[in-house]
Amino acid sequence: MIFNLKTKLIVKEQLKPNLFKFGIKSKEIADIAKPGQFLEIKVSEGIDPFLRRPISIYNIDKQKEIVEFIFQIKGKGTEILSERNIGEEIDIMGPVGDGTFEIMQNKKVAILGGGIGVFPLYELAKNLKESEVNIYLGFRNKDAVVLEDEFRKVSNQLIISTDDGSYGVSGFAIDELKKDLQEKQIDFIYACGPLPMLKAIRELSIEKNIPCQVSLEERMACGVGVCLGCAVKKTKVAEDEFSYNYVCKNGPVFYAKDIEI
Ligand SMILES: Cc1cc2nc3c(=O)[nH]c(=O)nc-3n(C[C@H](O)[C@H](O)[C@H](O)COP(=O)(O)OP(=O)(O)OC[C@H]3O[C@@H](n4cnc5c(N)ncnc54)[C@H](O)[C@@H]3O)c2cc1C
Repeated sequence: MIFNLKTKLIVKEQLKPNLFKFGIKSKEIADIAKPGQFLEIKVSEGIDPFLRRPISIYNIDKQKEIVEFIFQIKGKGTEILSERNIGEEIDIMGPVGDGTFEIMQNKKVAILGGGIGVFPLYELAKNLKESEVNIYLGFRNKDAVVLEDEFRKVSNQLIISTDDGSYGVSGFAIDELKKDLQEKQIDFIYACGPLPMLKAIRELSIEKNIPCQVSLEERMACGVGVCLGCAVKKTKVAEDEFSYNYVCKNGPVFYAKDIEI
């Protein structure tokens, strides 16, 4: 079920110059949202911009009925959203997405995240209480590193890497996972991040035969599977056969082996 509600903004925190954490009060969404789902947010009161902006659910507090999301200012929509203030009403559709992270219990799991793709992985990690959770997060540089303390609290192991070596381990997060795979058993992989990272983890998971789910952040318009703007090819079953999944409706989370990215 997807609710369309006007709800009050009750948390607003600026985490970085261009990064905001917002929290809304919504028992409806907090009660049913699953890790990996997202919100379609109407950023302004008027009709400009017309389209809602998709933002992942970062944290759900069922007791307090608060749903939080974190977003980076990218363009007009997120800029306008960042100017909204506590107490203002926001028009939200959610939770959106049929494809969600499958919660593996009593397993050894790896969570791979990059850049703004790390946000939906926090609610996921919180829900994997019965599993051994190994988290690998990659950022461009020290200034981009975010939520380190939060991810440490919900993991058995956290490795942070930066592309330029200015913080944590130097290099790509996936390379740290590759190193661990040489001596550690990993039963399941979850990933969200830039497309090159997702392509690489898809290949690695197929090569090592480890089930893997990836969350895609394809550009989308309607958010409910009508406009077909966010198509992603399904893995071919026959040479001349093509069919598509839609990130907003079938995703945003898919089994890596089932899609071509
Ligand atoms: C399922 C899903 C979950 C998402 N979750 C988050 C999240 O938790 N936090 C967050 O900060 N962002 C998230 N995004 C991305 C976010 O929706 C876009 O950054 C936002 O819609 C941009 O709107 P805008 O009006 O500010 O920018 P626009 O003016 O629409 O675009 C500005 C720039 O951003 C690029 N851009 C726009 N949308 C995307 C996208 N989906 N992926 C990559 N580049 C894009 C454009 O190409 C352009 O260069 C998510 C996207 C999807 C589809």
